[in-house]
Amino acid sequence: MTGPLAWHASTHAGRDTLVLEGDITEDADLDGLRAALRTATELDTSAVRRINSCGVRDWMAFLSAAEAEGKDITLHRCAVPLVSQLNMIANFRGHCTITSVMAPFVCGACDHELTEEIALDGTERERIQNPPPCPACGAAAMEFDDLEEQFFAFLDDERA
Ligand SMILES: [Zn+2]
Repeated sequence: MTGPLAWHASTHAGRDTLVLEGDITEDADLDGLRAALRTATELDTSAVRRINSCGVRDWMAFLSAAEAEGKDITLHRCAVPLVSQLNMIANFRGHCTITSVMAPFVCGACDHELTEEIALDGTERERIQNPPPCPACGAAAMEFDDLEEQFFAFLDDERA
């Protein structure tokens, strides 16, 4: 069965990584994805474009089934639509460790958009307050294209 969600195996910093791409919806083959998990797997979701409500439900079922099988999952380069879900749904991450997220930036001068990986190392808020220069027009600083106060709210839940 081919769903809109595809993945391929890779390695990142010596860890088994599955790079996901596409949409997480009711058509995504998350059972197939679960079968592809190793004992410890890093999921790179930076190329996930969208997750709908069925996708959210299936994703959370996928994480708890994987956990029940003793699979250790790390979320790496977490896509912006998944960060939104992390901030809305307390259990969206399951027991996953999250090492980095993708943050959206837009250029005020030329409207160029990009997402940049932000490591969750304690400097993440500082990073979005100091946006990168625009690679398209050379403007000195792009603007963070989400709600600065809320984007990392899920980190506070973690400490609570
Ligand atoms: Zn620009």
